[in-house]
Amino acid sequence: MKTVWIATGNAHKAEEFGQMLGKDVQIRTLKDLEKEPEIVEDGKTFEENALIKARALHKLVKASVFSDDSGLEVDALNGAPGIYSARFMGEDTSYDIKNQAILDEIADKKGDERSARFVCAIAWIEEDGTEHVYRGVMEGRIHDRIEGEHGFGYDPIFYYPPFGTTSANVAPEKKNAASHRHNALEQMMKDWKKKSGANND
Ligand code: IMP
Repeated sequence: MKTVWIATGNAHKAEEFGQMLGKDVQIRTLKDLEKEPEIVEDGKTFEENALIKARALHKLVKASVFSDDSGLEVDALNGAPGIYSARFMGEDTSYDIKNQAILDEIADKKGDERSARFVCAIAWIEEDGTEHVYRGVMEGRIHDRIEGEHGFGYDPIFYYPPFGTTSANVAPEKKNAASHRHNALEQMMKDWKKKSGANND
């Protein structure tokens, strides 16, 4: 059985990768290390940050490693909170407060001026050090209010036109199937299947 490492301590993320990679793959995460490495995410893009995390783990385990970095870009805020999405207004600030702050900041913007997107970069470093990066995007706009109970983070203010509502206002399976993360994972899986001959169909 192949073992792959995911540069995250987040069990949910690891599970999502695991589901995509299939049951013939054993997943390991930062939690399986004796000591978690200190990783400074000081890249300027989602791609750079995903690579920083993957490289740090690859150096330690010398195996196939995946990582991701994601966030919300709001055009009227010059792309903020972007790579700072988790840290925006402080990691411990509730998303009710973060989401309301974004709504307030762009309260005077209408229609297309409210364009926004969720972005997910996935890095894959093969055992031999070969690097790949993928970008998945979910295009939408900032809603006029906080709406919806599902999802997490900025979902309650992210209006996704194909849903006709926010990504927090649809069943999680529906959101996940259309998400930036899913999109990046699908691109990654094409290469993974080609390279590994893995068959998860
Ligand atoms: P990461 O875990 O470092 O990739 O941080 C991602 C951050 O971006 C999360 O903490 C959320 O604030 C935001 N984010 C990323 N993807 C989503 C999503 O699908 N819905 C809502 N917020 C998201």
